[in-house]
Order: sequence, then C-alpha cells, then structure tokens
Amino acid sequence: MTAFVFSEPNFDNHEQVVFVSEPKSGLKAIIAVHNTNLGPAMGGCRMWQYANEAEAITDVLRLSRGMTYKNAVAGLPIGGGKSVIIGNPKTDKTPALFDALGEALERLGGRYVTAEDVGTSPADMAHVAEKTSYVAGLGASGDPSPFTALGCFVGAQAAVKHHLKRDSLEGLIVALQGLGHVGYDYARRLHAAGAKLIVADIDKTLLESARTEFHAEVVPADSIYDVQADIYAPCALGATLNPNTLSRMKAKIIAGAANNQLATAEIGQVLRDKGVLYAPDFVINAGGIIKVCYEYLNKPESEVENHVRKIGETLTEVFERADRENLPTSVVADRVAEGRFKR
Ligand code: NAD
Repeated sequence: MTAFVFSEPNFDNHEQVVFVSEPKSGLKAIIAVHNTNLGPAMGGCRMWQYANEAEAITDVLRLSRGMTYKNAVAGLPIGGGKSVIIGNPKTDKTPALFDALGEALERLGGRYVTAEDVGTSPADMAHVAEKTSYVAGLGASGDPSPFTALGCFVGAQAAVKHHLKRDSLEGLIVALQGLGHVGYDYARRLHAAGAKLIVADIDKTLLESARTEFHAEVVPADSIYDVQADIYAPCALGATLNPNTLSRMKAKIIAGAANNQLATAEIGQVLRDKGVLYAPDFVINAGGIIKVCYEYLNKPESEVENHVRKIGETLTEVFERADRENLPTSVVADRVAEGRFKR
C-alpha cells in the first residue's frame, strides 16, 4: 500500500512530520508536530504493530492533531504532537530502541516533547531520558491516570449540575466501561460520592475487586450499553458512541475518559437531538496531560489538582455555549480550542 502524508484525510497543516529510522536498534518511528503556536508540541509515544505504514501515518496525524485541541482547551502553554513506534510492544522493545528515539527528539531541539502512551511505559521513557531532556512522565510519580480520573469525576459533577440540575451524584446510576488505570480510580470517586455503579470489563479480577470494594453490579462486556443508567462512562475503547450503541443507551449524560468516543463527528449532533449531554472526550480526559505538563515545566505539583479541577468549569462553559448557540458540545469544544491556538 502506498502511504501519503499531505493528501491523507487526517493531514491538517501539521507543521512537521518526521520519519525516523535507526537500523542498529531497528527503530522505525514517525513524529508528528501538529501545532506549536502555544508552546512546544507535547503528546505521548505510542508503540503499536501497525498493519502497514499508512495506518501508522493516519494514527500519528490524527493523534497529534487531537493533542493540540486537548492541550489548548486545558489552558496549557503547550502545543500538540505525538509519536508512534512501529513494532510489537510485547516482543520488540529494547533499551536501544528508546535511546534512538531520544536521539531523534534531541535533533528536533525541543519542538516535540514525548511521554508514555499505549504500548510504552515510564521505564521506556527513562531510556529516552538518557539521550534527551524532551521527555516527561518519568518514574513512579509520573502516572497521570489518577489525575485523568479526577478530571472525569469533576466533569461528571459539572454535567449532572448542568443537565439534571443536581448538586450531588448521590443515588445516580453510572454505567462504567473499563476498570483500568483511569476507570478504577474514577469508580472509587463515584462510589465515595454515593453513585451506584454498574461495571463491565474483560478482566475478571478487576470486576471482582469492583464488586467487593464498590458494591458494583457486574454485567457482561457488551451489555453495558443496555443497562438503565443516568451516566455512561466510557473508560476503555474509542468509538463506543455509534448508531448501534445509541439506539440501546438510556443514559442522559456521557462522561468518561476514553479517547475518540464519537464514531463519527455527526454523532455529536445525534446526541444533542436525543437530549443526551456529551462531555467532549478531549476536555474531560485532560487531567493526565495537565499532570505531565506540570512535571515537564517544573511547575509546583501542589497546583496540579487545582488545574485539573478547572475541567469542571471549562465543561460548564462548553455546555452553556452549546445551549446558547444550539450546537453539539463537541463542536463547541473544537471552537474553544481553535480560538486559543489558531492565532
Ligand atoms: P487501561 O488499559 O489501564 O484500561 C482499559 C480497561 O478497559 C482495561 O481494564 C481493559 O481490560 C478494559 N477493556 C478492554 N476492552 C474492553 C471491553 N470491550 N469492554 C470493557 N472493558 C474493556 O487504560 P487507561 O489508562 O485506564 O485508559 C482508559 C481510556 O482512557 C483509554 O481509552 C485511554 O486512551 C484514555 N485516556 C487515558 C488517560 C490516562 O491518563 N491513562 C488519559 C487520557 C485518555
């Protein structure tokens, strides 16, 4: 398959797309710097066994653009970028691979700063850090997930206040999909706030823990779309908001951490027409990048939580503007981001 960049549908005037090859380590990576108007481009490094190069290019273009929007709405002084390593994270990882990536980042002179993502870990980033300082999310305190969970929780509170006119989550039913790093912590906060949990995962151990710890009701993975709930919290997969699931879902609010929740952009309007309030994914799940950005910029760790809690206010502004302008919340969130980075 021939791979294109400028004519790829996800190409959005990315400032720079760099193809990195280092034969000794076997590194084949692509770094996409989407936009640096607000600061250096920041976004994680994904390692994935792509079926072909075209798939890797599509992914890095799409993900880097998404980071520009996420970072801008979160009010961070950084732009958007992403990198992908083509390879199997279970079998192809070596320290030399991440050393070589570090050297490539160093050559970019700080225009792009990486961190961990799907398929990479803080340990991999430690190797990157041996060759460059343009890396964040290092060490044990580098895990951004608890902050992503906090952002989701304050986002759910804002959505409930706006849509259900309630100050508390007490007694509301949340259908939570995915009890991983973010989902489990989010579930803990929801339970502590008095919400009732219905959960699904493909990992039985996590389900058992949630049943014991949060008195959660467990349902089979595919049944999570059919349950009677007030809030649907997608914290596992992308594209779970699609015509099939929307015809089954009863929830009036969508507030979860997963990236790219809308299967297509048009679903935003479908949700509005159905009277479902959608907390746009890249607004509600920005807690992790806020944490990583503070670490990279050496800003006080004590201020991270306050910044993450602002996600609630940002979402309220998005919800109110969507009502005023009769637009999907997803469209409004895009416009807020563009208003900040398109200068
Ligand atoms: P994770 O891999 O730790 O957790 C995902 C969970 O989903 C796992 O427990 C997995 O077993 C479960 N799962 C997989 N397939 C499922 C299915 N079909 N039905 C139900 N459960 C299923 O990932 P995470 O770090 O918790 O991230 C969750 C989501 O949030 C991802 O989409 C991620 O891209 C997004 N996100 C995460 C962060 C972060 O800080 N970790 C930040 C922004 C966005």
